[in-house]
Amino acid sequence: MTFFGRLKKMINPFSSARTAEEEDTGKIEPGERVRGRPKIHVLATGGTIAGRLVSTGPRYRAGVLGFEALLDAVPALRGLADYSGEQVANIASQDVDESLWLKLAHRVNELVDNPDVDGVVITHGTDTLEETACFLDLTVRSPKPVVLVGAIRPAGALGADGPANLLDAVSVATSSDSAGRGVLVAMHGSLFEARDVTKVSSSALPSFTAPNSGPLGQLIDGRIYFGHRTGLSPKRPVFDVSRLDKLPLVGIIYGHAGTSAPLVKALVDAGCRGIVSAGVGSGNLHRDVLTALADASGRGIAVVRASRVPFGLTLRNVEVDDNRFGFIAAGSLNPQKARVLLQLVLTKTQKPEEIQKAFDGY
Ligand code: GLU
Repeated sequence: MTFFGRLKKMINPFSSARTAEEEDTGKIEPGERVRGRPKIHVLATGGTIAGRLVSTGPRYRAGVLGFEALLDAVPALRGLADYSGEQVANIASQDVDESLWLKLAHRVNELVDNPDVDGVVITHGTDTLEETACFLDLTVRSPKPVVLVGAIRPAGALGADGPANLLDAVSVATSSDSAGRGVLVAMHGSLFEARDVTKVSSSALPSFTAPNSGPLGQLIDGRIYFGHRTGLSPKRPVFDVSRLDKLPLVGIIYGHAGTSAPLVKALVDAGCRGIVSAGVGSGNLHRDVLTALADASGRGIAVVRASRVPFGLTLRNVEVDDNRFGFIAAGSLNPQKARVLLQLVLTKTQKPEEIQKAFDGY
């Protein structure tokens, strides 16, 4: 019987061990705790960490293994905590959408309010992991650790990184030093804050970094060595999404030499309430795009300037007159995270100065 088979037996002595397929979709509610041990709830969403090598066609399929199989593959986890968990989805993260973000936010808020849960670990594909982390960072109210983790290599690959990453993530979730730091990401021996982390390699390890702030700490043999103690900004906006079932439409326009203004029109015609410009350099825009975005802003659409460049800041009024056009500057948030924040702020206000305050506070 697997580790989780045994855990199930402990929770319900009359249950028989499940088949592997049944275990993939099983849910173990929080509640059983061995005295003195932390209680970790695992929310599994899929990704390469749950991927399996295949012999024909693409090299592997993401989102195949269930959360129990992931935990069973790392015997060292048994010594760290007691576990409960559930399969929220089992997909590659290019298919993650806002309905999954909201589902996760609702569930994580429930879990962190449960005295029987000390920390939450979320397994996730790496392609959009940073966006889910950022969304949860802005929507979960609790000092309890919430840690996202993924893998670049699927289970069964030489040098698969999922098991070590998962062990690190659980170590982080069980450490009192992790409390009150917002949503965290544990990848390849480094610990990151959700706000700053971004995927920088689609194939090589390490694949994540925090361009402007660096990692929060290093993870070595299941121990955390914090590099700096920033804590959370007291100005960080936190959004209540408990009554939301969708988010305002916000699109991103990607800057390049000769960016085409009709793309802005397409976003406006699609009904976007906000547009993020992934501009060049310090968030600069081709003059035609600038004119089209100024027009959109004049019609009440929130326009945020971010940059396609991974390092550095997009500050107000450098080469673009943000005051004149009513634009918002994204600071060090990358375009995809600026979009997350903008979607959330737009549930409260459409006023550029209020939106800028939210960006400055995060
Ligand atoms: N596209 C997959 C995903 O994001 C693979 C990336 C990964 O998990 O490493 O789920």
